[in-house]
Amino acid sequence: MTLPDAGGGPLGLFGGTFDPIHYGHLRLAETAREALGLARVRLIPAGQPPHRAAPGASGAHRLAMARLATADNPAFEIDPAEVEAQQASFTILTLERLRAALGPERPLVLLLGLDAFLGLPAWRRWEALFDFAHIAVANRPGYSLDSAALPPPLAAQLAARHATAAGLGDTPAGRIVPFSMTPLAISATDIRSRAAAGHSLRYLLPPPVLDYISLHQLYS
Ligand code: ATP
Repeated sequence: MTLPDAGGGPLGLFGGTFDPIHYGHLRLAETAREALGLARVRLIPAGQPPHRAAPGASGAHRLAMARLATADNPAFEIDPAEVEAQQASFTILTLERLRAALGPERPLVLLLGLDAFLGLPAWRRWEALFDFAHIAVANRPGYSLDSAALPPPLAAQLAARHATAAGLGDTPAGRIVPFSMTPLAISATDIRSRAAAGHSLRYLLPPPVLDYISLHQLYS
C-alpha cells in the first residue's frame, strides 16, 4: 500500500505494540513533532513483537485502535506493514524498507520512550539502526538516562552521537536526541489490568479507542 507522501523535512517513526494505544503514546508523538521539527509522525504498530509476550489484542484490533486514535491529527499517519507482514517485527528491517522507499537523504527519526531506549542493546543489529535513522528519546516516569546506569555499549553510543533537535535536519541518520515531554505514567499494561478488573479506562486513552475496546470486549 502507498502511504501519503510525507513531503520534505524529518519524518518521525514511532513503533510500538500499542496494545492499546494511549495518551502516553499520543503525547510522545505530538511532543516529538513539535520539539524536533518533524514534518510528520508515522506510527507503526508491531506485528509479532520479538522481545515480549504475544499482545492481548490482535494486530487488526491494535491497528484499528491506532487509526481511531490518530484520525484527528493530520500530521500523524499509520503504517500497517508490520501487522500485515504477520511475522516477527524487527525495527532494523522496517528501517531498511523505509530508507529504500524514501531515499538516502530524508532525515528519519526513530522515536522511543526511555524504557525502550534502555533496552536497545537487545534489539537485532541495534548498532546498525544508526545507519538508517536518528533516535530521539522521551523521558518516561520510572526510568533514568543517567549514564552511570546505562549498559556500557549504549552509554558509548550516547556519548558519541548525542545531539540537539537543531542538528536533526542536517543529516539523514546517526544522532541521538533526548527530548522532554510532560511525564505521563500511563502504560498499556496498566490499562489492560484495569480492563480485566472491570475498572474505568476513561481519561487514559481517546474516547474512540475506549468505545472500540468496549464494543469488541477487548482485555476483559
Ligand atoms: P506495555 O505496558 O504493554 O509494555 P507500553 O505502554 O510501554 O506497553 P508500547 O506500545 O510498548 O507501550 O510502547 C511503544 C513506545 O512508546 C515505546 O517506545 C515506549 O517507551 C513508549 N511509551 C509508551 N508509554 C509511554 C509513556 N507513558 N511515556 C513515554 N513513553 C512511552
